[in-house]
Amino acid sequence: FNYSPWGPVAPEPRSCSLTEVMSEQLATQLEEENKAPPPLTGYPSADLLPSDDSSETTSDLMLAKMLQMQFDREFDDQLLREEKKFNGDSKVSISFENYRMVHPYEDSDSSEDEVDWQDTRHDPYRAEKPQTTPRKGFTGKGKNITTKHDAVTCGRKNTARMDNFAPEVHVGDGMGMDLKLSNQVFNSLKQHCNSEQRRSARLHEKKEHSTAEQAVDPRTRLLMYKMVNAGVLENINGCISTGKESVVFHANGGSLEEQPVPDEVVLKVFKTTLNEFKNRDRYIKDDYRFIDRFSKLNPRKVIRLWAEKEMHNLTRMRKAEIPCPEVVLLKKHILVMSFIGKDHVPAPKLKDVLLGSEDMKTAFYQVLHVMQQLYQECNLVHADLSEYNMLWHEGKVWLIDVSQSVEPTHPHALEFLFRDCRNVSTFFQKRGVSEAMSVYELFNLVSGLNIPVGEEEEIEALEKRNEDHVQRRGKKTFPASCEDVGPPLQPDSDD
Ligand code: ADP
Ligand code: MG
Repeated sequence: FNYSPWGPVAPEPRSCSLTEVMSEQLATQLEEENKAPPPLTGYPSADLLPSDDSSETTSDLMLAKMLQMQFDREFDDQLLREEKKFNGDSKVSISFENYRMVHPYEDSDSSEDEVDWQDTRHDPYRAEKPQTTPRKGFTGKGKNITTKHDAVTCGRKNTARMDNFAPEVHVGDGMGMDLKLSNQVFNSLKQHCNSEQRRSARLHEKKEHSTAEQAVDPRTRLLMYKMVNAGVLENINGCISTGKESVVFHANGGSLEEQPVPDEVVLKVFKTTLNEFKNRDRYIKDDYRFIDRFSKLNPRKVIRLWAEKEMHNLTRMRKAEIPCPEVVLLKKHILVMSFIGKDHVPAPKLKDVLLGSEDMKTAFYQVLHVMQQLYQECNLVHADLSEYNMLWHEGKVWLIDVSQSVEPTHPHALEFLFRDCRNVSTFFQKRGVSEAMSVYELFNLVSGLNIPVGEEEEIEALEKRNEDHVQRRGKKTFPASCEDVGPPLQPDSDD
């Protein structure tokens, strides 16, 4: 019955249950998901292609970037010629500046300012992660196999797709050459174009209204501008606080190489007006971690040291999991750190927030705990702890403003600690927290020392003994115990 003159009849498709269909679908679905982006069909708009991470392509990428740079420069030269021609001898001239491709600050190599972006998490001494991808010459499975050979078709497609970059991006023409762009090069160029466009938009926006940065001096403004220009920040929104020693700005994070930057950050700009800093000398001058460097520094560098000190202290605190801002970047006297708050609204200071009695009590115990952690785990005394430097955010107390914090061996550390305790004790007692103990009890609980109630003079005696002890140990032992300070004016790599 099955005989047919045209050969055997194809067997009827096997009927199967819904669950089977489903699970088969699930299987293919899973398979699809496992291999990164879908196979190349047509021109998948803006999404990026899988990266074929073969090492040869890095030089291709370099070449491509150099060519693009060359092209941009030529474009700018041409623009300049056209501008000249257009303006001729006319008294009123028109500038084509806005159409330039190569951005002015990138062009200028202003000597010492051109320190590379300091990635606070990158440790140059640690070996790079080994590459795990085997070089087997093909990827994928079954009909989705992609062989090296496909790179040719793929490369040509990529070249063609370059024309789909934004209209204002000039990619040149291949002059009939059979150009093949690898996926990696294509992706990088595409990303480059996107960030260039964003940057270009920002630059031109900047000219029209530069508002927030008016609160700082031109040097600082330039540094801030550079952060935006380099894409580390998306934009700088406005000033959160202007204090005697610092100005704090809210900004939107962009990206650092291989490191995400939080969406919302603050820039703490340490003020370069020196007078106020003079009376803070004693916080830093006697901090042995900085003692050698302090004496040799000019005033501007002293300001940078403050920023650096805050960075080191914050890093230590994060390590101990104390709620505090996370350091993003240090650039001279500007410290970029995560924003405590949400949607541009900074968390309120403890002095300004209205808490119920339960929350107030919780806050007190938290502050007590954090003070102990700070002293015992981080080996630090805040030295300016009060309801002004604690923020209330997500039901927790966050510590900020630690540029003046010192180690307990600092000649005045215990006085500073006592003052901190007094502020905390007084504040919480005033707010009706009956559990808030006296300054002496708090001091003893935090330091693990045991000074008798009412005998504040005890503290100076202790400090004196401390100092003698430190001197007996000799200065030679210091470097070993302060590795975390790192090389001069470099941010932490590991701490
Ligand atoms: P100052 O030395 O000028 O007191 P602070 O570090 O205390 O500097 O910052 C001043 C103010 O800026 C703070 O009281 C706080 O309101 C705000 N601020 C500082 N850092 C942050 C941050 N990371 N997130 C949110 N607000 C902050
Ligand atoms: Mg403060």
